[in-house]
Amino acid sequence: MKIGLLALQGDYFKHQQMLEKLQVESELVKTKEQLEVCDGLIIPGGESTTFSLLLHKHDLWNPLQVYARKKPVFGTCAGMIILSNKVNGGVLETLGAINIEVARNAYGRQVDSFIDTIRLSLDDGNIEFEGVFIRAPKIKKMGKNVRPLAWHADDVVMAESGNVVVASFHPELTNNTAVHEYFCRKIEKSQ
Ligand code: GLN
Repeated sequence: MKIGLLALQGDYFKHQQMLEKLQVESELVKTKEQLEVCDGLIIPGGESTTFSLLLHKHDLWNPLQVYARKKPVFGTCAGMIILSNKVNGGVLETLGAINIEVARNAYGRQVDSFIDTIRLSLDDGNIEFEGVFIRAPKIKKMGKNVRPLAWHADDVVMAESGNVVVASFHPELTNNTAVHEYFCRKIEKSQ
């Protein structure tokens, strides 16, 4: 199995370290050709407006939309924003790969980063997980086909639909590999 890390900006290197821990091969993706050889793709945190610009500049916008229909894609934080259907009522062009509406920087400007316990409900029961939120977005609406996978208080902070998994927090900034393991299992099942 080889997982691509979208390497246009953001903290893809931290995701790569998680995959190394799991002894999963990874590939830095900056072109369509690099994307095509990967069994799944991670879109890291960063700045969603910059992602939008860079994906067009690198001719990856349409290839990524097509890719997300056939192979697993996992977006964290800005990655979640860019995969969503709508942002703040439509202010930013997004890939529309998962039927959720999100609000950027939804935890306010002053206290805009925090760490708190979240509840993960993946296929091996409920576990507590350290949720690292950095200028994080919130999921405001979810389509019927979207399955919640984690909660912070009453807010859904991780969800999936078809091939696409999104998280508003940063699992790559913890020592716990549970979320990355889940994504690897999803890729295995899809093969
Ligand atoms: N606030 C950023 C955005 O709106 C996301 C922050 C992150 O990815 N850590 O794109």
